[in-house]
This record gives sequence, C-alpha cells and structure tokens, in this order.
Amino acid sequence: MIARVRLDLALRKEFDYLVPAEFAGQVEVGSRVKVPFGPRQVMGCVTALVETSPQTQLRALVKVVGRQSLVTPRVMELARWIAEYYCCPLEIALRSVLPDVVRKEQEGWRERLVARVLPLAGDLPKLTKRQTEVWNIIEEWRELPLQELVELAGTTAETVRRLEDKGLITVGPQVAERDPYAHEHILPTQPLALNPEQAAALARITAALDAGTPSTLHLPPAATFLLHGVTGSGKTEVYLQAIAHALGRGRGAIVLVPEISLTPQTVERFKARFSSGPLQTLVAVLHSHLSAGERHDEWHKIRQGRARIVIGARSAIFAPVDPLGLIIVDEEHEYSYKQAEAPRYHARDVAVVRGRMDRAVVVLGSATPSLESFFNSSKGKYALLTLPSRVDEKKMPVVRVVDLRQEARKEKGPPIFSRKLAEAITARLERREQVMLFLNRRGYATSLQCPRCGYVAQCPNCSVALTYHRARQKLCCHICGHETAAPTLCPDPKCRNPAIRYAGLGTEKVEDTLGRLFPHARVRRMDSDTLKRKEDYRRILSDFRTGKIDILVGTQMIAKGLHFPNVTLVGIIYADLSLHQPDFRAGERTFQLLTQVSGRAGRGDVEGEVIVQAFTPFHPAIQFARRHDFDGFYEQEIEFRQQLHYPPLSRMALLTLRGRNEDKVKFTADYVRRELDQARDSVPGLIVAGPGPAPLQRAETYYRYQIMLRTGQMTKLSRRLATLVASWKLPEDISLVIDVDPVDLM
Ligand code: ADP
Ligand code: ZN
Repeated sequence: MIARVRLDLALRKEFDYLVPAEFAGQVEVGSRVKVPFGPRQVMGCVTALVETSPQTQLRALVKVVGRQSLVTPRVMELARWIAEYYCCPLEIALRSVLPDVVRKEQEGWRERLVARVLPLAGDLPKLTKRQTEVWNIIEEWRELPLQELVELAGTTAETVRRLEDKGLITVGPQVAERDPYAHEHILPTQPLALNPEQAAALARITAALDAGTPSTLHLPPAATFLLHGVTGSGKTEVYLQAIAHALGRGRGAIVLVPEISLTPQTVERFKARFSSGPLQTLVAVLHSHLSAGERHDEWHKIRQGRARIVIGARSAIFAPVDPLGLIIVDEEHEYSYKQAEAPRYHARDVAVVRGRMDRAVVVLGSATPSLESFFNSSKGKYALLTLPSRVDEKKMPVVRVVDLRQEARKEKGPPIFSRKLAEAITARLERREQVMLFLNRRGYATSLQCPRCGYVAQCPNCSVALTYHRARQKLCCHICGHETAAPTLCPDPKCRNPAIRYAGLGTEKVEDTLGRLFPHARVRRMDSDTLKRKEDYRRILSDFRTGKIDILVGTQMIAKGLHFPNVTLVGIIYADLSLHQPDFRAGERTFQLLTQVSGRAGRGDVEGEVIVQAFTPFHPAIQFARRHDFDGFYEQEIEFRQQLHYPPLSRMALLTLRGRNEDKVKFTADYVRRELDQARDSVPGLIVAGPGPAPLQRAETYYRYQIMLRTGQMTKLSRRLATLVASWKLPEDISLVIDVDPVDLM
C-alpha cells in the first residue's frame, strides 16, 4: 500500500511513500506520519491511500504518530444517538463528537527542533571560527532548542547543521506541549472532612461507582443522581471526593460546567486536588477559548490516558476518557448546555445517555434543578440527593422585595434605586463591604422614541428596537449587530423634534447613575460591552476579589457561580424583566436567576442581604425565590406545565422556517403544517401548534415562522420527522430548522 502524504514543510505538493507491513492497519487518511525527506525526516499528514504511484523509487514512511484510531465504537454509538434523536445527519453529529483540530489533524503536536551533543569519539574535528562558537555553547548546555542556539551563537541554522554533518551533535524534533495553564502555580489540597449531608450523598455515589466495576458488568447500569444543594452547600467537595473514588477504581471522570464558570478559580480547585499523591493525574481542560493547538494537545492527553479528569464546557461530554467512571454536570439547569447550531444537542441529556453506554455514574448538580431533572427524580428515574444547608451553618441571605409600582407613584416614574436599595448601598460603602448589582440588559437605554410623532428607532434587519449605547454614541441592534450614530433630533424628516426621549434602562445607565449618587465609590461594569479581550473577565474579577472595586454592576455574567466573601449586598434592579418573555419557561428562568443571584450574597462571615426590585412583587417565581423555596416553586410550576402539556410533561420539537420573502415563508409553513397533519397517525398523541410568526419575527433580514410539536414519544417523532423532511419539497430560499427539546423559543 502507498500513502500519499502532505508534508508539514510548506511545499504545496504531495509525496508518495510505501507503507511497511509493520504499519499496515495503522495508517488511515488523516494519520500523522514521519517520513524521510532528503537527508532529514519530517512530519506530514496522509491525504489518501493508493495502490500505485506515478513516482518512482518510493521510500518507506518511518513512523505513524498517534496510532490510535480517532473514532472509537463508543464515540460512533453516541454520534448515532445524537443524529437520530436530534434529527440531524450523522456527519453533522460526528463534527461535534470529534473536535475539528483532531478530526482534520492539521494541527498535530507542536514539535520544535532541538540540538543535542553526541558523545565525542576521538579528537574534536577541525572547526571554523563560527562553528567553534556554536560548539562551545552547545557543549556547555548539552541540549538546546535549535532556535535558541542560533540566537545565542548569533549564527544561522546552516552553521549548526555543519556540526551535525561532522557527527558532533544531532538535531531532531521534540514535542513541546501547549498548556494553557502552564504559568500557574497550584498548591495541592487535601479532602475536607464532610458534613453528614455531604457524606450521605457521597456514600450513595461511591456505592453506585462500586456497583459499576467489571465484576458486576452483567447487572443493570448505575442510576443517574440529581444532587440538589443550595449555593455554598459544598457540592464541589462532593464532586472532588467522588472523582477520587472513581480514580481509585481505575476509572476517569468528566466534569461539565457552564462556559461562564470555567474560571481559573474553578479549574484550579480540581487541579489542586489531583496534582499530587497516589491519585495524581493530569486534568485536561476543554473550552471554546483554547487555541486549536491547545485543544489538540488536551484532547490527545485524554486519549492517551495521561489526563484522567476532564473539565470543560458543553462539548467536553465527548472527551475520549476510557474507562469512564463518573460524569458530573454542574449547574445542570443552565441553558448553555444546549447547542444553538446543529447538532442541537443538550449536553446534560447526552451525559445521561453516555453514562448508560459507558456504565458510568452521572451526577447532575444544581441549586435550582431544571423542571425536567426534578420531574425525572420525582418519577424515580434519577435518585435525588439533597444538601439543604450551607457549609458551616452559614445562613441563607435575607431577601427583601421592593414594590416598584409604589416607588414609581412616590417618585413620578420608576426609580433605578429605591430608597431601601440606596440606603443599603450607603451602609455597605461605609462598612467597606462590597455590593453586586444586577440587571439583565446592557446598554444605556432600551429604546429611542419621539414623543411628538411616535417614531421608535427600529433595526432595519430585525423586528426589535435599537438599544442606545451612550459611551459610544451609537444605536445598536443586539440581534444582528447593526449600528448607527445616535441622533440628537427625531430622524423623521417631517418632524425633526429635538426633544427625543431615551426610555428603558440598561447596565450602562445604572453604572452612570451610581457614579452620580455615590461619587466616592469605585464602580465597575461587567457585561459583554466591557469585556473586549480574553483577559478582561479575569482582571475585573480579580480587582473585585482584591477589593479594588466597591460596586460591581453586571448582566447575568455576574450571577453565576462566583464566590466573593466580602459581598454582603446584592441588588436586583428589575427582577421581572425575564418574566415577560414569550416563553413557557419564563417563570422558571426568573426563579433560577433570582436564586443564583442571591446566592452571591453573604458567602463570608457577615450575613448577606438581597434587595429585589420588581413591578410584580407577588409573582410566585419572585415569592418562592424570596423564601428559598424550590419545592414550593416546583409544585406550582409543574401543575401549570401539566395543564398546558408543556415539558417536562411532554417533549417538544420546534420547527422554524426562515426566508427573506415573508409571504413565501408563510406559505411554506402552511404546506409543512398540512404535511404534518397527514402524518399525525404515525405518532400517537402528537400536538401540532402553528404556524405562527416567531416571537422574534424577523432576524438578520430573515422572516421566521414556527410550528410547535409536542409528544410523549420524542424518539418516535424524531424518526418520523427525519423521513418526512426528506420527502418535503421546500423552496430553495426557505430553510427549515428542527430543534428537539428547544430551550430558546424566540
Ligand atoms: P457549592 O458548589 O455547593 O456552591 P462549594 O463546594 O463551593 O459549594 O463550597 C463552598 C465553600 O465551602 C468552599 O469554600 C468549600 O471549600 C467549603 N467547604 C465545602 N465543604 C466543606 C466541608 N465539609 N468543610 C469545610 N468547608 C467546606
Ligand atoms: Zn438587527
């Protein structure tokens, strides 16, 4: 057999090499190989396997690098499940399962050339002056990267090569691993003594891990656990000790966290525990901010079994840990676990499926479990573990709700800071404690209106109003990114009213108003506008941690998982913003957000206080969050879902048709609806609603219409949909998106 190889040297040409018998079966398209080239050996990538070659006098390849095949049967099985359940082609599913850099293997290990001294046989041969300079350096160092040697000697690689020709040194490639956390110094930690609730939860998990050892493989696989623990109840410590147990049984672990929680702080807690001792292992980190090279190296560290613990965002669920003992999905209720493009998989649900395939124990953890997961635990599908109180008996913060309608009556218009909130901030500033203020809307004002002619600044591409960003003097669309200069007069040529009004409130205005009300406070804002570079996020958080900031204002970015002992007050400016979304999960989202945000208060020695400002203060989502009553919230919410046949009491698939011509989109949506009606009998109990315009009717110049399907049997529906869609004839300029178990209904 002959391998056609593209060399890493930038020669735009391929060369053929014989595949020696010893490598038969190891070389496939995409394999990394080392081949002779002139007097040297170089790296390359196999692009094809052929029987004959136009080239004569073929040389044989010398080495196959990374001889493990990439798509293991297990990974294939998972990709098949995703393709079937989420109704997408297998190639699309495979694209997620194998990271691009690994699949294409363009990247490879980074190798650098290193010069090494060889034992000197006999006398030193005669050297030129330049060669002697190089020799003197390398003889002392024994080994140096070629590049450094060239720089130190102030010479060229050619001169170094002459020494190689004379047999004094060798120059060869050596792998240099890229480690994104290479410069951090990590102190090892020991397991903490658990409190009784933690110990009970851990005991259940370890018992399940022990049940999954090879001797019991004929038994049914372990149950998934749902770990419901309030913020600060010590869930992470339970995860760490469960991982230790899995490692002790010779099995690895995957820890999924939402991208936003993948702070160095989180990663460090895991690295620190497993950086020494008998269970020492590398901890690989996978997330979207890694360079292609870093991702490649992390992935292969896992594949080679050197990293037995993987911590990462959504796609880390596909990490090739083998054997896998434990999967942890922290903050399992987070919507970011759902991928927004095809394949539209939900990493939590994939985790449960993978757990079944790998016979691994799955632990879903959250302070505010999703209705789906809690429903599953109430049906006995998951085993429920509860950590009802904070570690060290720290109290949950006191939550006060302020009625903004009454405040508005007093102040002639809703204030940004009610009296109660303003006083609470003043008190914290005096005591040198810290404050977090939360508003889930960036920008300065949410709309520009002309009170005389009724003009509202709309995005030309999307059906939303433009947001005013004052610092940049721009009107911006938060959907498509369209920007235009902020006008000072009404833009309508017939009106030209100079008294235009900016209405609605965003984080920029909160920051600005704070500056006026508390001129001595050090205020910082954290939202996607202030985070321009990768390091900004770390820097703001570290400034806040070290006390260089008194008040941190932000969007949901500051709501999650962060831990600042000196924060004793959290203010929520408009708690009911998320209640008014056209989405059946609006109440659930609001409850989760309020609970998560309040969890930021009082994590140190001083008791925390949360002030929630709301226009609908008696809404159940707000009241249950105020009392830290998840069970109460669940009871009333599940009843509402039951009445309307919404998930988790059914499964949902959302079909969205998109196109530039609105009539054509509508017409096509009607056609799809008729086709679905005809196929109805094959999926019992199918509920079809729509078509109707999507809540976001137009986005990025495309009109959008939706059809919502609900069923008790999603797998059946997915299969049926796949064949139906293949038979439909949709106009070329209309696209159809199928989203199974959608979390975004917009
Ligand atoms: P969660 O993940 O539930 O929000 P963490 O695991 O972050 O909670 O725990 C909160 C804090 O309590 C951390 O600083 C952690 O080190 C500490 N902690 C956890 N368990 C214990 C324990 N058993 N004894 C003492 N401190 C603990
Ligand atoms: Zn737009």
